[in-house]
Amino acid sequence: MRQLLVATNNGGKLTEFRRLLSDLPARVVGPAEIGLELDVPEPHFTYAENAAAKADAFCRASGLLTLADDSGLEVRALGGAPGVRTGRYGGPGVADRVRYLLGELDGATDRSARMVCWLALAIPLEPVPQVELFEGTMEGWLTAEPRGTGGFGYDPVFQLPVGLTTAELPAGDKDRISHRGRAVAAARPRLMELLQPG
Ligand code: IMP
Repeated sequence: MRQLLVATNNGGKLTEFRRLLSDLPARVVGPAEIGLELDVPEPHFTYAENAAAKADAFCRASGLLTLADDSGLEVRALGGAPGVRTGRYGGPGVADRVRYLLGELDGATDRSARMVCWLALAIPLEPVPQVELFEGTMEGWLTAEPRGTGGFGYDPVFQLPVGLTTAELPAGDKDRISHRGRAVAAARPRLMELLQPG
């Protein structure tokens, strides 16, 4: 069975990708499983460029069909921040970053936000990989306090219109509506095409 590399060192993301891709005719592997140690910086001003750079680098290093994502949280009251800088906004650890963000929103009446995911699929071709992009978003609000134990990152403070945070949802339910789930759904026909035998 063909291998599909998911280019992330984030355990929470890898778990989600494994679920989202479980029905594909491919063996989904993370970098550690193939002994690949690669840390690709995210210096660009768009999710698309960061995701594409990551997919391209992991694809070149592994020779495998590769998926990478860059995601972020866009808060309306903060003019769309932290956006593409979400992974670095407010401290090195995610707990610090969540606390910092909630502090920024102290007293705000508009707590609406969305999660954004850009997915880059790198196809190992000569002389260079071919990269294709897909996008997904999820709308919601930021809570005042964390709730729920599922998911990762900002999930405990990201509330959906149904009134639950994405950390309170069963995992499969988050997958159906999440920014990452929607981006994978957009990429699915192309992945199926590329993974056809022969
Ligand atoms: P990056 O895509 O690795 O740069 O992630 C950016 C930031 O968004 C990290 O702090 C993640 O924890 C957070 N993040 C990305 N996807 C999700 C998600 O599905 N739920 C909650 N937080 C997320």
